[in-house]
Parts: sequence; C-alpha cells; structure tokens
Amino acid sequence: MDISPAAVECRLAAFRRRCTDLGLALTPQRLAIYQLLAGDDTHPSAEDIFRRLKPSLPSLSLGTVYRNLELLQEHGLVSRVPTGGGQARFDANLKEHHHFICVRCRRVLDYEDPRLKPLPLPDRVADGFRVLTHHIQFLGLCRACQEQETSCS
Ligand SMILES: [Zn+2]
Ligand SMILES: [Zn+2]
Repeated sequence: MDISPAAVECRLAAFRRRCTDLGLALTPQRLAIYQLLAGDDTHPSAEDIFRRLKPSLPSLSLGTVYRNLELLQEHGLVSRVPTGGGQARFDANLKEHHHFICVRCRRVLDYEDPRLKPLPLPDRVADGFRVLTHHIQFLGLCRACQEQETSCS
C-alpha cells in the first residue's frame, strides 16, 4: 500500500508548520527523516531509515537518526509503534489506528476499523481512570510468511 504523493505533501506541509511553531530547526537531515517516514507505511526502524538515507546524506549517523526520531516523538510529530520487543518502529500516521504485526518477518501494517472504537472498559478501570488513547495489536503471520510456511512443509 503506497501513500499518494498528495498525502505525503500534506503531511510535509503540516510537519513544516508544526516545526516552525515549536521552534524546531528544519535541518536537511530532520526533513529527510520525516519525509521518508511520511511516504512509507511499513513503519521503518531507525536502522532502516539510516540505511536508506545514508547514500544521499553521507554525513548522516545512526545516532542522529535516533535523536531526531526521539525528538519528533516527544513533540508528537511521529509515533513509536508499540511492537513489544525487537527494534522500535516509527509511524508518521498520527490518526488513531491499530496494527497487524507479523510475528515472523516483523512486518507492521496499519489497521483501521470503526468497530474498534467503542471499546468497553472493565468497571474498575472505567471508574476514575481516564483513557487517553488505546492501541490494538493483532499478531499473526502475513501472507508471504504463510506461503513460505506451506511451501516448506
Ligand atoms: Zn511475515
Ligand atoms: Zn501505523
């Protein structure tokens, strides 16, 4: 699933505005990191981002990628996918959504379903606990991994 160029442009425009509002410098490296995330719905890790940007930004270091992702996350410009172990994965999709995670190849897919919105809370939580957000994670095997499984058996 590709993100349309128009949607990427929208995300970039919003990102530039937010950075200006927050007083965050729009360094070429920061912009490149965000741009890659904005156009990619595979939820890349810091290492993926580093590997893909390094050829066009030879002075980029993995530490810089980490620091920028950390900073953007602190300001709510990107989010970290709670994959529960393994490499941290990042997301420029800030709309409330859920994830399907392949337990074998660690592929992370967005999952949106309005039926998942009105989740009933257990009474002892509903009483006095204010929920800010919730995230549902489906763990399983993606199609490619399922096919591999059948062809090997
Ligand atoms: Zn898989
Ligand atoms: Zn996502």
